[in-house]
Amino acid sequence: MSGQFRQGASWLLTEVGKDKIFIAEDMNDEQKAFGQTATDFVTKEVIPVSEKIEKKEAGVSVNLLKKAGEIGLLMAGIPEAYGGLGMNKVTTTALSENATHQGSWTVSYMCHTGIGTLPILYFGNKEQKEKYLPKLASGEFIGAYALTEAGSGSDALAAKTKAVLSPDGKHYILNGEKMFITNGAWADVITVFAKVDGEHFTGFIVEKDFPGVSHGKEEEKMGIHGSSTTTIVLEDAKIPVENVLGEIGKGHKIAFNVLNIGRWKLGAACVGGCKRVIEHTVKYVKERKQFGQPLADFEAIQMMIADMVIKTYITESMMYRYAGCLDDAIDTLDKTDAEYEKKSLKMIEEYAIEASIAKVFGSEALDEVADLGVQAHGGYGYIQEYPVERFYRNSRINRIFEGTNEINRMIIPGTLLKRAMKGEIDLMGEIQRILSQLKDGFAEVDIPGTLNNKVNMVNRAKKLAVYVSGVAVQKYMADIKDRQSFLLDMADFIIEVYAMDTAIGRTLQLLEKRGEDQCELEIAATKIYINDTCARLLNHARQFCANVAKGDEEAFGKYDKAIGRILEVTPICTLDLKATLAEKSLDKEGYPI
Ligand SMILES: Cc1cc2nc3c(=O)[nH]c(=O)nc-3n(C[C@H](O)[C@H](O)[C@H](O)COP(=O)(O)OP(=O)(O)OC[C@H]3O[C@@H](n4cnc5c(N)ncnc54)[C@H](O)[C@@H]3O)c2cc1C
Repeated sequence: MSGQFRQGASWLLTEVGKDKIFIAEDMNDEQKAFGQTATDFVTKEVIPVSEKIEKKEAGVSVNLLKKAGEIGLLMAGIPEAYGGLGMNKVTTTALSENATHQGSWTVSYMCHTGIGTLPILYFGNKEQKEKYLPKLASGEFIGAYALTEAGSGSDALAAKTKAVLSPDGKHYILNGEKMFITNGAWADVITVFAKVDGEHFTGFIVEKDFPGVSHGKEEEKMGIHGSSTTTIVLEDAKIPVENVLGEIGKGHKIAFNVLNIGRWKLGAACVGGCKRVIEHTVKYVKERKQFGQPLADFEAIQMMIADMVIKTYITESMMYRYAGCLDDAIDTLDKTDAEYEKKSLKMIEEYAIEASIAKVFGSEALDEVADLGVQAHGGYGYIQEYPVERFYRNSRINRIFEGTNEINRMIIPGTLLKRAMKGEIDLMGEIQRILSQLKDGFAEVDIPGTLNNKVNMVNRAKKLAVYVSGVAVQKYMADIKDRQSFLLDMADFIIEVYAMDTAIGRTLQLLEKRGEDQCELEIAATKIYINDTCARLLNHARQFCANVAKGDEEAFGKYDKAIGRILEVTPICTLDLKATLAEKSLDKEGYPI
């Protein structure tokens, strides 16, 4: 770790390769060992009882969580002072990635270690941390997080659950019902959000045995059948005043900051999901024969496998970069500082854009990979006996919880524009520079090796993302915040720029370490992704500007000319590169990188 603070989203305005990023290959032995422990646990303990988990057989998942606690899988991110191991975000990424062979288990585990534990870790006072964190770390207590209500999902702050101070001032009396709560039937301790006097949105630490607390029946879901999803019912629930979490009226800070961490952890889990789908798929296509030969010999199937590997490489690169970046930023803080947790939270907030990107990209990558996996299985992919069917169904929820992908997409340009308005990121200056460069020409970088052209393409794609955002902002000014279709498109540009910047950053660092001949697959994945993505962004930018121009041909002509100057894409032949990725994946019977 470099212990260096990098400003959130600064990559958008920084040339490719200027900033060293954390890459999965930089994990130390301890971090790798943690990942392996998670894999071993899931393989030996979780998979053998998979069907029991899916049927929600009494005690099975809870016992597994407790067993996971016994071997340290629940305590990695909790400080040593509170019974944890005080591991950094890279280690917890390795855990999240490797706990993913069984979707229902993954969701129960991730909920406990993420949104079930983190509110107390980051917002609890000393007494609350001492009381709850050791038990959450050991698995004695199972955690949950109750924000959603029937009438307030995306609009979480519109919650109706009410908290009123009791006449003796010793308790808050909570009334309301929380909806869709993961681990709802199993949780011992739940972070519940309610409005004090119907007005001040506030977090409470609620124990399941407090009077007036109960849960409803299990929801019948599309996927993750083995995870618990229930209502949490609060009927004159008596919550001691010492269980107020953070400050009265500041519950939104807890809700949104904890979601930031949850979003990146979800993305990391999706990387593991992608790898598992690849494993199941390549094994299947090697065995299954049609027209007298294994499916694996058909070019159509090889292209699918290559696409799955490429998407996984990009997603993996993004999750470890995020974790390393956050670790570096947190490493600049003084651990003995009484404000350490508070300052750590500031760092988490700093990377809110990256957290939303991780969530959106990870969840959509797993959906795409699982879809390709099903397709490569043919009809068998639709049959429950084959694991890929379950991955496909289970994956779907990831685009909905932890903030839907639409909400997360809108957070990305929304946050960026707010920071630009405050002068925290020089977006406006960059727009001006691009306008001058359109007249004077863009400088190219010249780096030795096979990726030079791709580096220049990604640098230009960054400028394209800024340019089109500028076009929309110039037209709609402050009203842009209400023009959702533009915001969603802007998010796509920003997400893809981050994806390409990260992939090429990782590959360049590997090239430097190992040399070109030892990076064949990484180079192939990077080249194809940038080739395909830039071509797509180019079309997308033209459509975006046509929507801004709204039939004004002169305006569109001006934008179109600028787009053509900023980014040019000459397609490369991707067939041999894809064939190599598929071949290596088939040889390894899994993700080959
Ligand atoms: C299996 C499962 C587990 C869950 N676990 C938990 C949990 O542990 N704790 C918890 O608190 N919650 C949990 N949730 C709830 C989950 O976070 C919400 O379902 C999610 O935030 C979406 O809210 P909603 O379902 O009310 O959808 P809505 O908010 O009604 O959204 C419906 C659609 O409208 C879109 N939309 C909404 N608002 C806007 C807007 N302003 N602009 C544009 N589009 C918009 C959404 O993107 C979506 O496409 C869980 C849900 C499920 C299904």
